[in-house]
Amino acid sequence: MTTPAPLPPGSTIGIIGGGQLGRMAALAAAKLGYRVHVFCPEADSPAEQVAAVATVADYTDLAALEAFARAVDVVTFEFENIPAESVRLLASLVPVRPSWRVLEVAQDRISEKRFFNSIGIETAPWAEVGSAAELAGAVARLGRPAVLKTTRMGYDGKGQVKITAETDLDEAWNALDGAPAVLEGFIDFAGEISVIVARGTGGGWSTFDPAWNVHTNHILDTTTVPAPITPQLAAQAREAARKVAETLELEGLLAVEMFVTRDGRLLANEMAPRPHNSGHWTMDACVTDQFEQFIRAVCALPLGSAERHSDAVMKNLIGDDVHDWPRILRDPGAKLHLYGKAEARAGRKMGHVTRISPRRP
Ligand code: AMP
Repeated sequence: MTTPAPLPPGSTIGIIGGGQLGRMAALAAAKLGYRVHVFCPEADSPAEQVAAVATVADYTDLAALEAFARAVDVVTFEFENIPAESVRLLASLVPVRPSWRVLEVAQDRISEKRFFNSIGIETAPWAEVGSAAELAGAVARLGRPAVLKTTRMGYDGKGQVKITAETDLDEAWNALDGAPAVLEGFIDFAGEISVIVARGTGGGWSTFDPAWNVHTNHILDTTTVPAPITPQLAAQAREAARKVAETLELEGLLAVEMFVTRDGRLLANEMAPRPHNSGHWTMDACVTDQFEQFIRAVCALPLGSAERHSDAVMKNLIGDDVHDWPRILRDPGAKLHLYGKAEARAGRKMGHVTRISPRRP
């Protein structure tokens, strides 16, 4: 296979999805001289606000997708839950990076876990669950506590039920409205990390330093880098992410989230084939940040250096946290990033703030 030619500055990148990830990717694209055309179902989305052009239409609107594909030079995603038929149509008209194969694996928790296990990456013990009876059998095998998750469209703890000693299994099953699910053994982890890997069209790759992530109410609260893990574990985490990218022949950027067990093992939880909230620290602490790296990979440019020049703590501003912006701005060392969302609903990611400090040796 020949390596595609770099997309020259002035070209138009089509981004599917209009959220904050698309917004920050569009800003990175603009810095490299590209134009961005956003495709998303809502008007005045965070990405649309900073894009040259936007199409507001449903992800299943094939006529709108076709017109979009004809107007751009490459298509990528900041939101991966796009129907196969839509991606197929786009790919018949314009280069799509990453490919459908990558999206397909990442759209479904079971295909994701099968994939991790097939390349020797451990996960929490898991079982496929399609009925209340299968749930009872799976709980008998994996034990309690456990977590029942819908296989598709879950994020930030949505579509999840924890199964404790007291949980009624019929109630737990009914809570997911009959959606196909996976039961996972509950991991009493020492912590959670993520590694972001970029892989270019020529096969070159680069990983960012593993990040240490703390969640509150299933939503990322803070990311700290460097992660308080051994160099050996950090190397193992990077290698896992590299292997995922290599095996999937990724063209783009992908985050792998992992649990660190109390006995020092890594268990992959999930992957996201796009920039990731746990990579926002790179904007203020790396030579090349995750959004620029993403744009470089998608546009067939050489990857930049992912070197971390500073230590960093990134804090998400969720819901009403955003009203703290005047105080945050009074701290001259705090780097504030806001996403342009009008309404601060509970649980909504409104922005983030990163504080950097000199890199420890
Ligand atoms: P997820 O939607 O799979 O990313 O889950 C959101 C968060 O729930 C994770 O980041 C963990 O903090 C927690 N969680 C998910 N699965 C498990 C598990 N099997 N054991 C323990 N905690 C979990």
